Amino acid sequence: MNKESISGLVLAGGRGTRMGHVDKGLQAFGGATMAAQVLARLAPQVGRAAINANRNLDAYAALGVPVWPDDTPDFAGPLAGLQAALRRCGSTYLLSAPCDSPFLPLDLAARLADGLEAAGADLAVAVTEEGGRRQVHPVFCLMKTSLEPVLSAYLDGGGRRMDGWYGQVEVAEVLFEDADAFRNINTVDELHRFDPARPPTLAEVAGCLSAYDPDALPVRDAQRIIRDFVTPVRAVEQVALRAALGRVLARDIVSPIDVPAHDNSAMDGYALRGADLLPDAPTRLVVIGTTYAGRAFDGAPRAGECVRIMTGGVMPAGCNSVVPQEFTSVEGDAIVLAPGVIRAGDNLRLAGEDLKAGSAALAQGRVLRAADLGLLASLGVAEVPVRRRLRVAFFSTGDELRSIGQPLDEGCVYDSNRYTIYGMLQRLGCELIDMGVVRDDPQALEQALREACESADAIITSGGVSVGAADYTRDIMARLGDVTFWKIGMRPGRPLAFGRIASNGRSAFLFGLPGNPVAVMVSFYFFARDALLRMMGADAPLARMKARSVAAIRKKPGRTEFQRGILSHGADGMPEVRVTGAQGSGILRSMSEANCMVVLQDEQGTVQAGDLVDVVLFDGLV
Ligand code: AMP
Ligand code: MG
Repeated sequence: MNKESISGLVLAGGRGTRMGHVDKGLQAFGGATMAAQVLARLAPQVGRAAINANRNLDAYAALGVPVWPDDTPDFAGPLAGLQAALRRCGSTYLLSAPCDSPFLPLDLAARLADGLEAAGADLAVAVTEEGGRRQVHPVFCLMKTSLEPVLSAYLDGGGRRMDGWYGQVEVAEVLFEDADAFRNINTVDELHRFDPARPPTLAEVAGCLSAYDPDALPVRDAQRIIRDFVTPVRAVEQVALRAALGRVLARDIVSPIDVPAHDNSAMDGYALRGADLLPDAPTRLVVIGTTYAGRAFDGAPRAGECVRIMTGGVMPAGCNSVVPQEFTSVEGDAIVLAPGVIRAGDNLRLAGEDLKAGSAALAQGRVLRAADLGLLASLGVAEVPVRRRLRVAFFSTGDELRSIGQPLDEGCVYDSNRYTIYGMLQRLGCELIDMGVVRDDPQALEQALREACESADAIITSGGVSVGAADYTRDIMARLGDVTFWKIGMRPGRPLAFGRIASNGRSAFLFGLPGNPVAVMVSFYFFARDALLRMMGADAPLARMKARSVAAIRKKPGRTEFQRGILSHGADGMPEVRVTGAQGSGILRSMSEANCMVVLQDEQGTVQAGDLVDVVLFDGLV
């Protein structure tokens, strides 16, 4: 059967009752609509395609094919759609597929056609077998257009069942092995579950690891899951050059000009023609004028002549070298330079040496620094496309917490975490939403999480995730989204909650950090920081260095330890580090004294004095 003799029909005329009376075919799926997905699979199999729809006809027409509503009134079901198409298609055969079957077989037409021809039938219908059960799919069928009067008579008589008229026509059943291809999406839940464009769940991301145990998760695995799970904000804004400092560049910047624009002098001296330089005797050149920065020299020196030039001055025509003035002596209107003090081409900056017009000056993802502002200015760029700022909401949890300004009741502590978190977020360039202290109370926590989620891209909490405390936190977070509680193989900071929660159609990534003040900082730096930067669209991996340990450090293999360290230089000028003594996870003072973290990797055992260890500088963290 020639495919030109077949018209394809997407059946989208239903009421969408099971999806809450939405127009099913227009539901988002796989980055398009369901009807668009079905059309994309059906159209290549047929001569021409059309859609049967009874609502939102313009939206369907936007897919670029004819839209045919039912002739039979009152949403009479798929048969009415087939009837409308049989009357209008003008081809010998009609092939139909429902708008909620985005995985339909790409050889549906060919196989039904073979079955129809082999059986000499009027209509071929797809059949699958699942678990020994035979399932007929009457909406996936190929039929002769000449059946229209039979079908119309059945409809006119009040018949509505898809297979109710099969008794009057020759039907061939064609068996398809791939039952999944006929899966249809009936509920909102299925719409999300089967959507190929939906973001992966935490379980799916974690499933990529060879071994995954949430109760004994190595640091690097947690980092990887977090990294793979978060997604960058897309929005871009144009800001004035100065306002771009510390922001994340959203697009590559291509240089519109050569920088420098002209060949110019790297020295104060005399521009000359290299061919005039004598190899064995002093060279004497007559000074014919001066070229000033910002003005091209009018005229071209001839053999034996030179031009006085300042740094940055445009090279006069024909000159290709500059002799610094300190290598010359002035004799009347001429200069003399000794042989060999310069070679031809010396002290010359070539046009385009910094950047050629059309070449990439800065790559997107860069966090813009002072030098970058200067570079952009040198290109004449006045406004810069940057990613919008990441909005981060944060709060502390705990009944024992008092905010500064309040009296410190018996057994209470001041909330310090909110200030360290503030500082760390601020230095990352986030837009902050400080939500204060939240009591250890399920309702208060749920309320705070929902509020945070509705206004921020990411949420950072501290406290309440350790064993015991976690029970109701876990329930609430699980109810609000896809959150997992880890015990990480590290010290300090074993517990961490991570995931994505949603409220009122808005979602946010959640980092539930432990409560201890040092653990908060370590977990922020080694888990949240990288994820937040990734969400900001920034490419800024942690800079690590090696330093010699001044003293032995006791360490058990099998977990990562982050020790507060002070980095300095030894007598030989090489970097060396000592840890700050007491490493208890509540001792913020030693964090404040430290200028780096010593990172002792999982495999590492006790460090001997003089061994090299990994160090991350605090200045590099922010
Ligand atoms: P949690 O993880 O909630 O059990 O807290 C562990 C420890 O950290 C407890 O000693 C808390 O008092 C302390 N802690 C929790 N949150 C804060 C905070 N915001 N500021 C200072 N200490 C805190
Ligand atoms: Mg607590």
